[in-house]
Amino acid sequence: MSRSLEGRVALVTGASRGIGGAIARALAHAGAHVVAVARTVGGLEELDDTIRRDGGSTTLVPLDLKDYAGIDRLAAALQQRYGKLDVLVGNAGILGTLSPLPHVEPKVWDEVIAVNVTANWRLIRALDPLLRASDAGRAVFISSGVAHSARAYWAPYSVSKAALEVLARTYAAECATTPVRVNLVNPGPIRTKMRASAMPGEDPLKLDPPHKVAEQILSLCLPAFEESGKLYDYPARKLLAFQPPA
Ligand code: NAP
Repeated sequence: MSRSLEGRVALVTGASRGIGGAIARALAHAGAHVVAVARTVGGLEELDDTIRRDGGSTTLVPLDLKDYAGIDRLAAALQQRYGKLDVLVGNAGILGTLSPLPHVEPKVWDEVIAVNVTANWRLIRALDPLLRASDAGRAVFISSGVAHSARAYWAPYSVSKAALEVLARTYAAECATTPVRVNLVNPGPIRTKMRASAMPGEDPLKLDPPHKVAEQILSLCLPAFEESGKLYDYPARKLLAFQPPA
């Protein structure tokens, strides 16, 4: 990968491990300054070490994304320091617990919706002026195949990802006449902590590691990527047949 994001600023949520960590490293390797958001300071510091060794740079933001005022403060700080945001990757997500709908604890439901949906709306709300200030603002949100499958016992997570997809496609439609492009990725099964907790009996070594899908996601963050309002599957990276109405 060439340093095609040199001079650009990219914000990645859930960058302390897993798919978000890999996306952050890929963006930094391509030349972007990475604003890395998550709660776990140790994970963010490990990311910083790796990116610095590779010649890149980060700003670490320890933040719980349920702290919506914190998202607003982060946007204000980015406005002051950079005046723009070139890439937003809304990757952070939680699974909640897998159980029949009537047994889902209200606090689990609320937290899954808060992190997987509302935080992404608050990011859009706070960062939209900065993305529009870029000459090629790119937003990518990480969804899941269960957004479309209504799988038994996965309701909070599935519902949250279905909502996230409509959120992102709506934002894409609203950005249609701007340089901002907004897309979604379903990474499929990837070797991470979340996948291990969802599928404890599975051999993780049979799954792709996060850096494989991160290489694909990087391409959606580049100024040259012109599509918007679409969902990409990995590894087929197949374009599914929906697009926001004009
Ligand atoms: P993961 O290893 O559990 O990582 C999740 C990331 O989200 C962590 O960095 C975590 O950081 C962050 N996060 C969670 N709650 C947060 C909060 N309240 N505030 C800030 N950050 C928070 O999961 P992953 O597998 O990499 O998942 C990444 C995305 O891919 C998720 O949206 C997930 O739904 C999606 N996905 C994954 C798979 C898969 O097979 N792995 C499949 C389909 C979709 P802290 O804990 O440090 O805050």
